[in-house]
Amino acid sequence: MKILVAIKRVIDANVRVRVRSDGAGVEMANVKMAMNPFCEIAVEEAVRLQEAGKAREIVAVSVGAGNCQDILRTALAIGADRAILVETDLETQPLGVAKTLRALAEREKPDLFMLGKQAVDDDNNQTGQMLAALLGWPQGTFASKVEPVDGRVNVMREIDGGLETVSLKLPAVITTDLRLNEPRYVKLPNIMKAKKKRLDIVKPVDLGVDLAPRLKIVKVAEPSKRKAGIKVESAQALVDKLRNEAKVI
Ligand code: AMP
Repeated sequence: MKILVAIKRVIDANVRVRVRSDGAGVEMANVKMAMNPFCEIAVEEAVRLQEAGKAREIVAVSVGAGNCQDILRTALAIGADRAILVETDLETQPLGVAKTLRALAEREKPDLFMLGKQAVDDDNNQTGQMLAALLGWPQGTFASKVEPVDGRVNVMREIDGGLETVSLKLPAVITTDLRLNEPRYVKLPNIMKAKKKRLDIVKPVDLGVDLAPRLKIVKVAEPSKRKAGIKVESAQALVDKLRNEAKVI
């Protein structure tokens, strides 16, 4: 099985994000960037499938500026075999990325395309679903377990009422949820080895895709400040406030 894994470069999940004073976006200057956590889970899962003898090649792909090479090198250090950067200075948006990934799928012919369930910068949760629709492939979203069996892959998904398992015919698209795995700590020798692995850079025009943004961010604002809490004297007083003031029980 050949697996393509899409990874996005986002603000490091441990950084406290600040809104720019002009309200046009968030502060990006001198901010630590990293691989989107759900994408890291997708890379880890692909590598585990390869280690279990169920995948033969893993290709990590990213769409973005030249500095996305750093997260591609991280994916190579986790265990991906090679990487492709589709280089653009334009802001990437779900439909444009999905069209780019479709073009890569047509070129690379993977059996499985793995993505994160969402990128934590804009929380769109759209790209995997759009990609599956564009390719006409089955999709297993919010995966918490992935098991390939005889030309199919079983995906356990987290849904409102609990867990659901779907059986997808390959080729298919899978998006990863938090509980799928815990990504490994990358060791120095693997970081060194990753430097020598192949990383190709292509331009969107080479793939015949147009990444011009279609969505416009109108305004970005901080969430409203949390009001100070109060101390109540007893559990009974708490229940009373929840019932009669907050009206939540
Ligand atoms: P989103 O739909 O933006 O929440 O992103 C969901 C997933 O799509 C991410 O976890 C990535 O796997 C993939 N994705 C989104 N944007 C990009 C990008 N610029 N490059 C590569 N993969 C991306």
